[in-house]
Amino acid sequence: MFNQHIDTAPVLEAFAAGGECPLCTLRNQTEEGYLDQFLGGSVMVPAMRVLVNEKGFCARHFAQLYESGNHLGLALMTHTHMKEAIAALEKRWMEPKKGVFWKRAAQDGEARGSCALCDRLDSTMDRYIKTVVWLWSNDKPFRERYNASLGLCVAHADAVLAATTDGAMRAAVIDVELRNLKRVEKELEWFTLKFDYRNNDKPWGDSKDALPRAIQKLAGASHQHKGE
Ligand SMILES: [Zn+2]
Ligand SMILES: [Zn+2]
Repeated sequence: MFNQHIDTAPVLEAFAAGGECPLCTLRNQTEEGYLDQFLGGSVMVPAMRVLVNEKGFCARHFAQLYESGNHLGLALMTHTHMKEAIAALEKRWMEPKKGVFWKRAAQDGEARGSCALCDRLDSTMDRYIKTVVWLWSNDKPFRERYNASLGLCVAHADAVLAATTDGAMRAAVIDVELRNLKRVEKELEWFTLKFDYRNNDKPWGDSKDALPRAIQKLAGASHQHKGE
C-alpha cells in the first residue's frame, strides 16, 4: 500500500496543473529529483548505494548524469559498479551450462540495461498510480477533476487500468482516454490540413502544437533537459 499523506499531495498538484498527462509531469519531476540526488551533495542511503553498485544505470540515465557535470561523483559510482559488474560477468561467463539462462537474461533485461534510477522511478510511479486509483474512489473533487481532465498518455492510462478492478473507474478512465485521444487526433488532422495553401487563412484553433501533444499521448513526455 502507499503512504497516503506523502503521495496524495504531488498527485493532486499534478492533476491541478493539467496537461496531456499529469503522470508524465510527475514522472519527469521525480526523475529530475533523483538525478539531483544521485550526484548532489546528499549522502546516499546504504541501500541505494548497494543498488547502484549492483545495477549501474541505463544509457539514458548515464547520459543525463554525465550531462549534469559532476564527473568525479559519477566516476566514483561508475568505478565501484564496474568492479562489481566485471566480477559478476567473470562468474557468469565461466559457468558452462548457463547458455539458455543468459540468452533469456540478454533479451529481458540486458538490452535495456539494468538501472538503479529506472528501478526507483518505476516503484515511485507504481505508488503514484495506486494513489490515483485511491483518490478516484475516495475523493469526489479529484474524481470530478479526473473525469473532466485531458486524460493521460496511453502507457499511463494502461497502468491505471491495470491497477484497478473497479468497474465504474475503468469505464470512466476509458471514456476520458478515448475522448481525449480522438480530440488530439482531430487537432493533429487539422495541423496536417493547415499545410494545404487553401487553408492558409483559416485559424489554427488548438492545432498549432498538436504534433508534440499527439507524440506525448502516444509515447509519453520525455524528460526535458534544462536549457533545451
Ligand atoms: Zn504519461
Ligand atoms: Zn534508467
